[in-house]
Amino acid sequence: MRIGFGYDAHAFVSGRALILGGVTIPYARGLQGHSDADVVVHALCDAMLGALALGDLGQHFPSTDERWRGVSSLCLLRHVAALLAEQQYGLHNADITVVAQQPRLAPYITQMRQNLSAAVDAELGRISVKATTTDGLGFTGRAAGMAAYAVCLICPQGTGQGG
Ligand SMILES: [Zn+2]
Repeated sequence: MRIGFGYDAHAFVSGRALILGGVTIPYARGLQGHSDADVVVHALCDAMLGALALGDLGQHFPSTDERWRGVSSLCLLRHVAALLAEQQYGLHNADITVVAQQPRLAPYITQMRQNLSAAVDAELGRISVKATTTDGLGFTGRAAGMAAYAVCLICPQGTGQGG
């Protein structure tokens, strides 16, 4: 088994949809980024890549590459899952914490988990998404942006332990 860790943050801007874990969330602002700036998916992708020491999301999907402009990050996640499969690994489980002062994310957590679970072909019970605030501290507390942390465990496929 191998462990991976990922972190991502994006700034809030006006005029963009807020997309987290592939869910479009009603809010006055969205996150700035080349793709859909989905911090939840980006953190998970980096954790999965990190577990196999495959670099980071920016290396695999550079912002200079027009193929990825505005693309759903769930598409990137499917690519990352395929990279793991190429090396005969599958996601065992993942735990993601998204840090946001606002909006309230609880109503959308289940749909995020379902989207992630489908993208990586893992059971829902293996994908955890949690949301927290920072009690007003830091850039997330000022609602200047959002951040997400992810850890994951990956296992060789074909051992009965994989995703
Ligand atoms: Zn990102």
